Amino acid sequence: MKKDLITIDDLMDKVDDYIKNTKEREKILDAYYYAKEKHKGQYRKTGEEYITHPLNVALILTSIYSDSECLIAALLHDVIEDCDVDIDEFKERFGLTVYRLVDGVTKLGRLHFSTDNDYLVEYYKKIIVGMSEDVRVIIVKLADRLHNMRTLWATPIEKQKKKSKEVLEIFAPLAHHLGIHKIKSELEDLSLRYLKPTVFYDIADKLNKTKAERDTTVYEMQEEVTDLLNKHHIPHQIKGRAKSIYSIYNKLDKGKKFSDIYDLLALRILVDTEQDCYLALGLIHSKFRPLPKRFKDYIAMPKPNMYQSLHTTVFGIDGYLFEIQIRTYEMDEIAENGIASHWAYKENGGSKKTADLQSTTTQKLQFFKEIMELSNTNISSEEFVNSVKDEVLNNNIYVFTPKGDVIELPKGATPLDFAYKVHSKVGETTVGVIVNGNIVPLDYELKNNDIVKINTNKSAHPSKEWLNIVKTTGARNKIKSYFSKNEKEIFIERGKEYLEKELRKRKIPISDFYHDDNLKKVYKNLKIDNLEDLFYDIGSNKHAPNNVININYKEKEEEKPKLLKNIVKINDSSSDIIVDGIDKIKVSIASCCKPVHGDDIVGYITRGNGITIHRSNCRNLASMDDRCIKVSWDDKPTNKYYSDLLIRTNTLENKLADITSATSKISVNITSIKTISRDEYATYEMEVMVKNKEHLTKLLIDLNNLPYITSVERLIQ
Ligand code: MN
Repeated sequence: MKKDLITIDDLMDKVDDYIKNTKEREKILDAYYYAKEKHKGQYRKTGEEYITHPLNVALILTSIYSDSECLIAALLHDVIEDCDVDIDEFKERFGLTVYRLVDGVTKLGRLHFSTDNDYLVEYYKKIIVGMSEDVRVIIVKLADRLHNMRTLWATPIEKQKKKSKEVLEIFAPLAHHLGIHKIKSELEDLSLRYLKPTVFYDIADKLNKTKAERDTTVYEMQEEVTDLLNKHHIPHQIKGRAKSIYSIYNKLDKGKKFSDIYDLLALRILVDTEQDCYLALGLIHSKFRPLPKRFKDYIAMPKPNMYQSLHTTVFGIDGYLFEIQIRTYEMDEIAENGIASHWAYKENGGSKKTADLQSTTTQKLQFFKEIMELSNTNISSEEFVNSVKDEVLNNNIYVFTPKGDVIELPKGATPLDFAYKVHSKVGETTVGVIVNGNIVPLDYELKNNDIVKINTNKSAHPSKEWLNIVKTTGARNKIKSYFSKNEKEIFIERGKEYLEKELRKRKIPISDFYHDDNLKKVYKNLKIDNLEDLFYDIGSNKHAPNNVININYKEKEEEKPKLLKNIVKINDSSSDIIVDGIDKIKVSIASCCKPVHGDDIVGYITRGNGITIHRSNCRNLASMDDRCIKVSWDDKPTNKYYSDLLIRTNTLENKLADITSATSKISVNITSIKTISRDEYATYEMEVMVKNKEHLTKLLIDLNNLPYITSVERLIQ
């Protein structure tokens, strides 16, 4: 462990590389001497003088180009906790900002995330929320933890395991979300070494044994790629890259074979511009066959922690598979240092850089927003801490919106979680989901890289059942709050909506229905007292709107013979219907509204019987809408379609022959025709077979043109 024995000169060497301001350098030195004095006589468990620890923490921070305040805070981070310090004097000497940083790190040091103790839980909450004030607290804390992990060998085994577990649960994910890959990856490897030493050394050993062979292959591949890019004048740099032991362990853990992983060689290509990234990719793909489905464009679609790069896997030389990353130098900087790359990239102004760092953190990092959102919701502290730990920090699937935005979700999340994350309104009106072009149920478990499309319907509502489906606290809370919005109110609103929709459908003027005399009869009949009760009963499905309307209005449809009722005519029209992304699925035409080719249609997912196609205005859809999906017609129909027509006349004369001849004139087949009413005038119901909507429309026009016909309408049963 020689590398821990560094001096202030080693640190200052690194500092000189990028901090040019003499005053700032003097302040760093001052902090060092102060800390050295305060820690005098204290030793680490490793046997070294205590000051080596703060020195190493600061040195780690120079590798991500931390600003001087951060370095000073790192040097001083343990003095308030461990030494006799006059707080006022400290603030005077190092300034309020440094004091706050040190104080923040000290408080974070007291956190132990895996306890049930309520007091501590409340305390964590404060700290986690507090980090939104200055993200540098977390960065210093990460460096502190990294050095402690490097020297963990000196602590008892039980503590080693506990610390390592905490690192995997909290600190490595934090580093990941801040995009500080360097620190994340070392933290993970160190934790694995203490948690599963056998596995760790086994992987390390295998990597070592094959290293020479892999190095040669990588070198040769590198040469070939360099030649290729040079030939096309793309300036670049190529790095072989080592896979971390932890990432290999992770893949093994997911059931992959070791040989599959260590055979996988990795290259990283750095170029000047985004355009060169794509050019380089094209050249590489033209020379080396890419492995299907392994290409990822994180340039067009950056990860939520701002990571950008192109990823592809190709069959390289000697049949080896190569994982290739292509990115610009700036993207590489962000990939390695995450938000800390602000320090490296913005040349001027220390305080401006820090402000950038903070604003990027709060505005661009999804996990930060989520923590803030969670802290504003009404959940118990324990729930809060668990959500942060399980959902925000240990998020590990990425899914895409159809537009390509990346949404990060916890493992096990469902499309409903996704919908609520996109927007509460989207969540609340979700009626169906398409993942990668396939219809899936609402409780489908989302996988990495799924493309998720949510179908919504303005009049749809959340269902209580959803509470059992969603995995995220955010979605659960939004659903709960929807329902706590007074259930009665929701039912009343919904009842009114259902009733009036039905009235419009039956062409009954709404004011007519609400006429006092009418209502009295309705109230009496249903044994209720007022309109609110009526709406409530309808909204809560106690009474169907139609039955309520029928109290005052005769339902004509009930009297007519249902001539089609028992004829189930489901023609297999699969070939004419396109269900987004699905090839082979049973599709049938709904017998209630009988859509014809060209109608606006909606698919309804039946239980175990494929998809039924309805007209989009079919009233039977209203109660089914959470299972509706988008479907469309094929351009070249091969089937003929049934349609039911209701023909009203202003005569009692028998016009059947006349209607029949008008119909056959335009080659429409009549499959049945029947007189269904003769009280004042004759009304007919006719079933025809047409090619498409155009054909049908032509028929409707022709019939309407007959002098004795007052109306022709398509029926919905
Ligand atoms: Mn420390």
